[in-house]
Amino acid sequence: MKAFDSTRLYFDRAADQIELSENVRTLLLTPKREVQVQVAIERDNGDIATYIGYRVQHDDARGPMKGGLRFHPDVDLDEVRSLAALMTWKTAVVNLPYGGAKGGIALDPNRVSQRELERITRKFIDGIHDVIGPDVDIPAPDMGTNDKVMAWIMNQYSRYHGFSPAVVTGKPVELFGLPGREEATGRGVGTITLKTLSRMNRRATQTRIAIQGFGNVGSHTAKFLNDAECKIVAVSDVSGGYYRPEGLEMSKLLRYALDHRGALAGYKEAELITNEQLLELDTDVLIPAALGGVLTKDNAERVRAPIIIEAANAPIYPDADEIFEQRGTTIVPDILANAGGVTASYFEWVQNRQHYQWGLNRVRQELDRVMSESFERVWELSRERHVSLRTAAYILGIGRVGRATVLGGII
Ligand code: NAD
Repeated sequence: MKAFDSTRLYFDRAADQIELSENVRTLLLTPKREVQVQVAIERDNGDIATYIGYRVQHDDARGPMKGGLRFHPDVDLDEVRSLAALMTWKTAVVNLPYGGAKGGIALDPNRVSQRELERITRKFIDGIHDVIGPDVDIPAPDMGTNDKVMAWIMNQYSRYHGFSPAVVTGKPVELFGLPGREEATGRGVGTITLKTLSRMNRRATQTRIAIQGFGNVGSHTAKFLNDAECKIVAVSDVSGGYYRPEGLEMSKLLRYALDHRGALAGYKEAELITNEQLLELDTDVLIPAALGGVLTKDNAERVRAPIIIEAANAPIYPDADEIFEQRGTTIVPDILANAGGVTASYFEWVQNRQHYQWGLNRVRQELDRVMSESFERVWELSRERHVSLRTAAYILGIGRVGRATVLGGII
């Protein structure tokens, strides 16, 4: 199934619940604008390299469009389109005054030099600067991009339009960025996990958790939940899984990753397992925080955790989702679970526009409030309507976007 088809399936399940007409479904699903530009650069050795850059602007009924920019070899228009739609529902679920967008370039950032990466980024902005902007569409980091790339975007856009820090979020803290932006997605995932445990009458101290991925999201989630006295029994990265039934020693693990440029390969204080084994461990909570599509109909039957928190975008294929639903697995969907990142991005954008900066405590306090309130709203809705948390989150998101669209008027 293609990425956009699975987003459509979840959308339809919720749209059926609120009896949305076919015409409104088509309207809400059709992206406002899809841009594809040539990104040609001269490589350091004088060769010419040509890439394709995408930006899909899905919906702006509730405000300027917001979404990450991904540099990864697998990027294609279908994936970007699907992720753009996810952003529309995500910003609506946490009630930020934004629509949804996403962008990407099919490129492995590890196979180009930093100077080449800068040229690629600036060339891409040359191609799309007239369709993005602080009131139009605000990019942010995603897989393969970081605060440095965001700084180049701000600088390149400002060459055309003057000083515009609010055109992009996820910037370095020294350059109009936000203290706490880096930890925000993981912190949000952690907050949502604790809320879920509490609603299910489970105690954090007696909860065993496995986390796939130890990058930005996975490592901050692990740290937050370890601080909350949950037992993190396994984590993984591209090199494999690291398992310690009595709980990993988080400070040692974080120190190791810090000393090895974020990588866990060679960590000796745990048993080495595969990423597949990690997904199937006997734990209370499983948190996929790496790639999309890791839980499929082929491994769903073997997944034992009764609670799954979707920290990554779209880690569960719809056919696996169905198996989990039949089995009664509690799944907190991506559009709620990982919305902490875009929420912090919103705080950054607000401050850029006010030329004012909050401290870390205020950022954390506001983030925790948004995530907690959104979780409670989705939880209540799922109980009221007897639907999964995923369908409840989509009902909330689609309902808000639908109402804004109709109130704005279509003539
Ligand atoms: P990242 O690049 O910082 O980390 C990715 C992690 O996944 C790394 O530990 C990497 O080793 C691991 N990984 C890569 N390939 C793997 C494989 N085949 N098997 C197992 N692990 C593998 O990325 P991130 O920012 O932490 O994002 C992770 C996920 O969360 C993505 O799906 C992303 O779209 C989503 N997300 C991120 C944010 C954010 O603010 N960073 C916000 C919302 C959603």
